Amino acid sequence: MEVLYRSTRGKSEPVTASMAILKGLAKDGGLFVPDRIPKLTLTMDKLSGMSYQETAYEVMKLFLTDFTEEELKNCIANAYDSKFDTEQIAPLKEADGAYYLELFHGKTIAFKDMALSILPHFMLTAARKNQVTNEIVILTATSGDTGKAALAGFADVKGTRIIVFYPKNGVSPVQEKQMVTQKGDNTYVVGIHGNFDDAQTGVKTLFSDKELAALMAEKGFQFSSANSINIGRLVPQIVYYVYAYARLCAQGAVKEGEPINVVVPTGNFGNILAAFYAKNMGLPIAKLICASNENKVLYDFFKTGTYDKNREFVLTSSPSMDILISSNLERLIYRIAGEDADKNAALMKQLSEKGSYQLTPEMEEQLADFYGNYASEEETAQMISALYQKTGYIIDTHTAVAAKVYEKYKTETNDRTKTVIASTASPFKFTKAVMRAIDEKYAAQEDLALADTLSELGGVKIPEAIEEIRTAPVRHDRACEKEEMKAVVTEILGLM
Ligand SMILES: *Cc1c(COP(=O)(O)O)cnc(C)c1O
Repeated sequence: MEVLYRSTRGKSEPVTASMAILKGLAKDGGLFVPDRIPKLTLTMDKLSGMSYQETAYEVMKLFLTDFTEEELKNCIANAYDSKFDTEQIAPLKEADGAYYLELFHGKTIAFKDMALSILPHFMLTAARKNQVTNEIVILTATSGDTGKAALAGFADVKGTRIIVFYPKNGVSPVQEKQMVTQKGDNTYVVGIHGNFDDAQTGVKTLFSDKELAALMAEKGFQFSSANSINIGRLVPQIVYYVYAYARLCAQGAVKEGEPINVVVPTGNFGNILAAFYAKNMGLPIAKLICASNENKVLYDFFKTGTYDKNREFVLTSSPSMDILISSNLERLIYRIAGEDADKNAALMKQLSEKGSYQLTPEMEEQLADFYGNYASEEETAQMISALYQKTGYIIDTHTAVAAKVYEKYKTETNDRTKTVIASTASPFKFTKAVMRAIDEKYAAQEDLALADTLSELGGVKIPEAIEEIRTAPVRHDRACEKEEMKAVVTEILGLM
């Protein structure tokens, strides 16, 4: 049965999966959502014998119903190949009683690779299916990891260009170095003087700029989005929750049907929303544990039912979670509003006008499966150190936020359900913060210099992604004010 995609804000005609991927964002500013969440059809018995790629096909075909089997299998084969440094693609590691789902074995050593290595293939396939001849311009705002993963995915992909905006002082040194050294004649990287929310708001404004769209169409361009609002990123993220559960069954750690909890270090709410969709497909997930850093808008939201972004923006050691407007939350709001687009649009209007909105008690009741908490900077560092001392396993700052929140959850509830923690970045991506958490004596050294020590302590090889940037030349040095983003895009595309 076909799944179509409708906007969370309007009553416009639903579109096919391939069109939703091409468009990224709906015309009315809403996000595309599936008109129903398909059920997993295969038994765990079957799934637990499957490779990552086979699992990906079984999950994706249920959502991307207008892709043929051949198209989907091609996309999957091109995405999940030797770019990943392990055949398992997303291995599970047990440490101190929890299962860490390592989502950082791709090219840029963060979980964004899980979706962004397949999105370019989805997009080209979708363009072909819909007779699109325009060059596709990927416009993206990044809090650090999306940018590099998207650049790596789209670099030198024919028929596409990619422009990435990042907050000049809001990403880690390794993240910045990874982006500004990006190869590919179709890649553009621009630092803005502002924070991630400024970059994301700027990009959203450009997407809905009619004058710009007309200028672009004249020259044979059209925008698309690689941000986590694209349904083409959400669907691949559902796969690894199914895969993780199947692995647990295969190992005998859980019996088929036995519930598990998942803990997700959250920023834009994409990763945890994928877990929520997996649960709605019938995967036995009990609690969805949403972990925040000191930018704890979501913690307050789950506690009080009020979303309020009016607060100070904190720069933390987990920069990919330094976000005050979690875009993908809109998909959850739409759902708990009974899929009522008007109700959702009204709340989103309040968010953009006053920076806050309040759920009704009926909506709040539907959030019972979620638990939210946060970890302070100190708690995050202490978690890295404690886990390392106890087990020798070294986790990055984002994953540590999740691990700490999981500790708090266990203390509060005594729930001993088996738990999967989404491990979203390699510790090598945030080497300095990680090493410093282990011993203050490392605070004086820089990220790249510390990689060897981290490798020794953790007994893990330095990833290719780090070796690479040690020597790569800087290729991008553009910077602009947040008000100048349109001018920069116009210049890059030669639209004057
Ligand atoms: C993007 C990112 C997150 C947050 O994921 P969302 O889907 O935006 O909630 C967490 N950790 C790392 C390392 C990331 O790159």
